[in-house]
Amino acid sequence: MATKEEIVKSVPQTGFFGHPKGLFSLFFTEFWERFSYYGMKAILLYFMYDKVKKGGLGLDETTAASIMAIYGSLVYMSGIIGGWIADRILGTRRTIFWGGILIMFGHICLAVPGGLTFLFASMVFIIIGTGLLKPNVSSVVGDIYAEGDNRRDAGFNIFYMGINAGAFISPLVVGAVKEHYNYHAGFSIAAIGMAIGLFMYTFNQKEKLGIAGVEPKNPLNAKERSSILKKFIVAVIVVAALVILATVSGNLTIDVVVNFFTVIGLLAPISVFIWMFTSKKTKKEEKSHLLAYIPLFITGTMFWIIQEQGSTILAAYIDQRTDLTMGSFVIPASWFQSLNPLFIITMAPIFAWIWIKMGNRQPSTPIKFSLSLLFAGLSFLIMIIPAITSGGKELISPWWIVISFFLVVIGELLMSPVGLSATTKLAPSAFAAQTMSLWFLTSTAAQALNAQFAKLFAKISEVQYFGYLGGASIVLFLFMLMLSPWISKKMGSIR
Ligand code: GLU
Ligand code: ASP
Repeated sequence: MATKEEIVKSVPQTGFFGHPKGLFSLFFTEFWERFSYYGMKAILLYFMYDKVKKGGLGLDETTAASIMAIYGSLVYMSGIIGGWIADRILGTRRTIFWGGILIMFGHICLAVPGGLTFLFASMVFIIIGTGLLKPNVSSVVGDIYAEGDNRRDAGFNIFYMGINAGAFISPLVVGAVKEHYNYHAGFSIAAIGMAIGLFMYTFNQKEKLGIAGVEPKNPLNAKERSSILKKFIVAVIVVAALVILATVSGNLTIDVVVNFFTVIGLLAPISVFIWMFTSKKTKKEEKSHLLAYIPLFITGTMFWIIQEQGSTILAAYIDQRTDLTMGSFVIPASWFQSLNPLFIITMAPIFAWIWIKMGNRQPSTPIKFSLSLLFAGLSFLIMIIPAITSGGKELISPWWIVISFFLVVIGELLMSPVGLSATTKLAPSAFAAQTMSLWFLTSTAAQALNAQFAKLFAKISEVQYFGYLGGASIVLFLFMLMLSPWISKKMGSIR
């Protein structure tokens, strides 16, 4: 097994803006993967609820929003499996490759007109593919820097810019292609994007990435292999039996599936915490860190509840309740999905500058986390104003959406970059391979809940909806603020 030093030595340490050459491959792999994901997501909701004669699937809006949320929840949940496969069977590099292939197939399924069956097939491919690719690509970023290399944080920031650059461009391109041609043409662009990503990943891979991520870090031994295989076969049989049973008894409706995965989306993080907390490998001090991580995890979840609704509830709102005409031009609703990443790209450097200027006086991790909820809450509360002035009927100005998205991004910049590093520091060392996926579970839990909130949105008024969720975020903000000294204490020397 290669040591950390051997791995780092195999990667040319400069060649991409003063960073290891491998960052080039990883940056563009993730750029294109996110391009495909967010491009697809920008038109998927509309594809699901648009009338059949407009090229859509004609689902009702609430169902479409719930499916979007559950889909998002599973996309991030599968990271647990992706991390595990890389760690124990395939190694990160090969896992990423297969992930990319599955994602590409997923988009191809939508590029051909195939109705609900192809939609669900696409979702399965993309859920598994993203689980294999996303956490592992980020973890190779960590692998290419030596222990204590002070370029590492900057490397992750560049990588984060890649994510958001992909997420920024794709709704514009995919949205325009959809307007000009049709939905399937739009989804083909996503498929092409992932194909380019795969090319960028494999091209000169050995030269750029050396041996980083080639070997699994904790390979299964023969005994473990056969026991896992047995468990896997049993699980497949049980799942198949349940699906058959539910189908035969007429219980396999979209709503039942959505509710089932809401429960799973919430049970997943709870089980991971219990597993880590009770594991013999977790040291006493690490248990204290895990306790400190619970409120941070809940905060992250509340934040993503609001952030992710930008592509579900608010996306529908943009399409139906917002005046998108500008003279003779109608702004495609999908283009609004570029606002979040655009704000991230433009404001991240400002935040970085503020933190450098503040140095040691900058707020602690728990305080940054709580503040993110203040901004998320405000982003929803502000939507009460147009909801009232429009009487819930007239079209509102798109500027309300712009302001709302802007507020979310302030919160996102306070939390998202810090969240991952807090997870890396607070997760028990024996679970290093799972830390990336642990952080993604905040998005899993959030979107599992969003699948239910989508139903609530249909039942209560806009004012109530934005008021309740925005208010909940603010209440949690105050609570977290009070709790932050306790969290800091439990975090010990970690900041
Ligand atoms: N938007 C970021 C990404 O796609 C963060 C997602 C998350 O943690 O939910 O990578
Ligand atoms: N800001 C998100 C992320 O960092 C992208 C998005 O929501 O479009 O990738």
